[in-house]
Amino acid sequence: MLLPLHACDRGHCFGSFWTGFRRDAGTAVFKNVCKYIHIHAHIHTYIHTYIHTYLKAFFPNIADRLKLLINPSPNFTAIVTGHGKLKTYLHKYKIIENPQCICNKGKQIVDHIIYSCDLHEKERDKLVAVITRTGQWPVSKSKMMLKYYKDFKQFTDSIVLNEG
Ligand SMILES: [Zn+2]
Repeated sequence: MLLPLHACDRGHCFGSFWTGFRRDAGTAVFKNVCKYIHIHAHIHTYIHTYIHTYLKAFFPNIADRLKLLINPSPNFTAIVTGHGKLKTYLHKYKIIENPQCICNKGKQIVDHIIYSCDLHEKERDKLVAVITRTGQWPVSKSKMMLKYYKDFKQFTDSIVLNEG
């Protein structure tokens, strides 16, 4: 059984869909979504592959993913799937010209947001404080999800991503 991960209402990808780690299952779901948004078959395979790559870093094994009851939010979904309002994603689809983060210290990739962007330092400090009570920082994305899901979710929900 696949659990809902994604609830996105931005850009060309809207509605809710369910995704897993088996390429065939995920692709079937994407086909359903794409029926509504009329994008061509090769594009949705491309999007699926792109999201799949990011998801794997957070959930290397599907058993861990299924154990987790995720309450998705736009920021959380964008960061875990590497799409949505991330500048690198918008740039990839030629929606914007420049993938650089507003901080000007690199492209706005997922790792930049989580581990190094100055704009999210205050929020990151809170996450680091919680994690270093029992472990070490930096932690991998998969460990973050496995051990610190709630704190990581709070981090993603508290940061402001490309708004204002
Ligand atoms: Zn930045």
